[in-house]
Amino acid sequence: DNTRRPIMAGNWKMNLNHLEAILLVQKLAASLNEQQLTDVEAVVLPPFTDLRSVQTAIDGDKVLIKYGAQDLSQHKGGAYTGEISGAMLAKLGCSYVVIGHSERREYHGEDDALVNAKVKAALANELTPILCVGEGLDIREAAGQVAHCCTQLDGALDGLKAEQVQKIVIAYEPVWAIGTGKTATPDDAQEVCGAIRARLAEKYGAETADAVRIQYGGSVKAANIAAIMAQPDVDGALIGGASLDAEEFASIVRFPE
Ligand code: PEP
Repeated sequence: DNTRRPIMAGNWKMNLNHLEAILLVQKLAASLNEQQLTDVEAVVLPPFTDLRSVQTAIDGDKVLIKYGAQDLSQHKGGAYTGEISGAMLAKLGCSYVVIGHSERREYHGEDDALVNAKVKAALANELTPILCVGEGLDIREAAGQVAHCCTQLDGALDGLKAEQVQKIVIAYEPVWAIGTGKTATPDDAQEVCGAIRARLAEKYGAETADAVRIQYGGSVKAANIAAIMAQPDVDGALIGGASLDAEEFASIVRFPE
């Protein structure tokens, strides 16, 4: 029994200044009607410097499109030059925050312990984490994807209670499929998303596992979203490149049509 509302989240990465951000959000709002945004949750994840502008643009649109950040600090505040706290993001009206994206793990040395601290910082500020897990090509070639993703999941959720885990969105993003044009097959996506849900059931019970939304991410576009969404344990997508094009992202949100 799947009552999980599909969630499409656009990770803009380090693209678009605040003026370009307003334009993209306005185009998206114009392309999507209230019913479409009720059926499927649409989220944009701009750079920090765009958030205030996105907030203003979306306020005028009855907040049907949600938004969030691509990272946050694990600290509450203080002498952490260059960092952004969960409280700052919450104050800007963010609903979501990406945590543990493979680019942060790879280029900023984020490990599971740090990801865990960031998940806790997000939850403490009533931000919904979009927790990313995923294997590199070497692990995939050795058929280690399920074990790897479950280890990342366990580490990220360490010390959380079932009611906290229920609030989290998990994104399965095979690193070899990000920005490469190589989409995992729908069966590949289902294998790991299903294993993640089974792991959640084992650790937190069936009710929690059934409630958690699990996204697939990696070269998702309008042309492949429907087949991916047809998988029973895939509840949405995290979208990089294709989320920078308003029409393409709107088509992804409209996948049920
Ligand atoms: C991502 O980085 O989260 C991602 C899925 O990127 P892309 O869609 O460009 O592969």
